[in-house]
Amino acid sequence: MPGTGPATAAIMIVGEAPGANEDLQGHPFVGAAGKLLDTLLSQIGLSRQDVFITNVLKCRPPMNRDPMPNEAEACLPYLRQQFALVRPKAVLVLGRHALQRMLPDVGGISRVHGQIFMRSGVAFMPCYHPAAALHNGALLADLQRDFDRVREYLDRVLAPPEPAGAQAPQGVGGAATAASPPATEQEQLPLT
Ligand code: URA
Repeated sequence: MPGTGPATAAIMIVGEAPGANEDLQGHPFVGAAGKLLDTLLSQIGLSRQDVFITNVLKCRPPMNRDPMPNEAEACLPYLRQQFALVRPKAVLVLGRHALQRMLPDVGGISRVHGQIFMRSGVAFMPCYHPAAALHNGALLADLQRDFDRVREYLDRVLAPPEPAGAQAPQGVGGAATAASPPATEQEQLPLT
């Protein structure tokens, strides 16, 4: 199951691996976790038409077990190609498995969720996996806050430029300030 969404999407969402239904239907996130993902997206004004959704693994692991490192290694070149073709401005990294593969050096998901890691100008934003929030309701508020941070970032970075000569209101930055990265962002290379 390669993933779905417009090849021109500014936002890429990367989960762990397709489940049985995803493999059968050929679409990512079709079950309960997918419904929660749709809700989270709509709460920040996005829908599936705005995002390219895929997974680290392209096939369901047997018995739906956790991905093995060699399986993730085998699929990563595919994800790298998708990343190179879609050229997103922001990547939502859903859950610990995707985090381990895409940002191996930043720490665990419970520590870094909601933060922004810049990699060659692309914002990688780890969030809890929606399935984790379904399993442990206490994570839901964190997940919603993670998505709020995604919205804030998109508002700053994807905002149309100020018309020439327009003056920013007192105390609010103009386009250059609005597009500059927040203090928590760190610069490193993408998908290495
Ligand atoms: N469905 C997916 O496509 N990926 C996940 O990580 C979970 C459910």
